[in-house]
Amino acid sequence: MTNETVFVLRHGETFIKGQNRRQFEDRLRDNIAKTLASRSVKGLFRAQGRFYLRVEQAAEDWVEKRLTRVFGLSSFSPAQPVEREIESILKVATQMVEKELEARPIGTFRVTTKRSDKSFPMTSPELNREIGGALAERFELGVDLQNHDLDVGIEISEAGSFVFVKRVPGAGGLPVGVSGRVMLLLSGGIDSPVAGHLLQKRGCSLFAVYFHAPPHTSERAKDKVIQLSETLCAAQGPINLHVVRFTELQKMLRDQGPPELAVVLYRRAMMRIASRLAAARRCKALITGENLGQVASQTLENLSRIEEAASLPVLRPLIAFDKLEIIELAQRLGSYDISILPHEDTCSLFVPKHPATKASLEQVTRAEERIDFDELVEQAADEAEVIRVGEQ
Ligand code: ATP
Ligand code: MG
Repeated sequence: MTNETVFVLRHGETFIKGQNRRQFEDRLRDNIAKTLASRSVKGLFRAQGRFYLRVEQAAEDWVEKRLTRVFGLSSFSPAQPVEREIESILKVATQMVEKELEARPIGTFRVTTKRSDKSFPMTSPELNREIGGALAERFELGVDLQNHDLDVGIEISEAGSFVFVKRVPGAGGLPVGVSGRVMLLLSGGIDSPVAGHLLQKRGCSLFAVYFHAPPHTSERAKDKVIQLSETLCAAQGPINLHVVRFTELQKMLRDQGPPELAVVLYRRAMMRIASRLAAARRCKALITGENLGQVASQTLENLSRIEEAASLPVLRPLIAFDKLEIIELAQRLGSYDISILPHEDTCSLFVPKHPATKASLEQVTRAEERIDFDELVEQAADEAEVIRVGEQ
């Protein structure tokens, strides 16, 4: 055996054709290279509609863990490169099966060969039979094409010849970046990091904005949002987090409008500022963690009022999720334990006991009448602190 592992990387969304396919593959390739940050990587190349990643064997586990985070991969296999001849294939396959048998009980198996290099003297079915027969005899295993405990993969292609026994499910989705940029409104709660993660999965790269209202919200609340941003870096690399000082605007809105409208008015102001920041960053949409009916203020009427203040489409990927479903996603993302740290966010403050559930356009227009938003929005956006999160 060599001291090298080759990961065979399969990507999904195979309906993507032509120019888009090229873009998809180029982006996926860049993202893989970025997430591994050259550590132990000896080569990454494309062939047969897949990628082949050569790494030092010692780094295999680490690389495997990183790859499960890369959107656009449907599955991958750590494989052993072999000589392009049957003896060598059989020898390595035998070693691999032996190792699997040491680790777990196996009753049945199959061999799956993919031969795209037609100059190899045996066909795929012939190789399946030959290698399968030898392994069955040696280890006294049954062959079962449908329900097997082990699938021995053999690949013979221009990219090389490989044997593998493991297929790791990938994260699915589209490579981050192919769908363009979006601006995530990131609070310290459970929902918004998950919302960002779901858009990353559909190929968006994130910018983030957090509305900070010192001294009502503490430095620790801001640290928490930075930590939450870090959980989103695993899929895309560094993220630019904009921290907007919201104290004065929030106070003004609270003083002008009736208390029950406060939440809608804050959100509308956030939409205006986020829209301006998004335009400057060439983002194509705003993302929130809003959900229908999760809290009293999240009604279709209020969501409409909030959206009317935005100058870009507002995407709400969690709109129809149950809280428990969101929590499960947050746990998988690794954001949950950070989100439940007890630091108040802007909006748990000054929130009235009975928020309006059906704010009308007339009500909000009246409440906002005496506020000169242009200047306030411009100032808040232009003075935002930009933190580059996740830079190594
Ligand atoms: P989350 O768990 O994301 O805080 P939530 O259930 O607490 O969501 P709200 O507090 O009503 O919901 O906020 C709805 C959405 O508005 C958030 O998901 C987020 O996208 C945005 N938002 C709220 N507060 C802020 C803030 N201080 N900074 C940035 N975005 C915010
Ligand atoms: Mg919140």
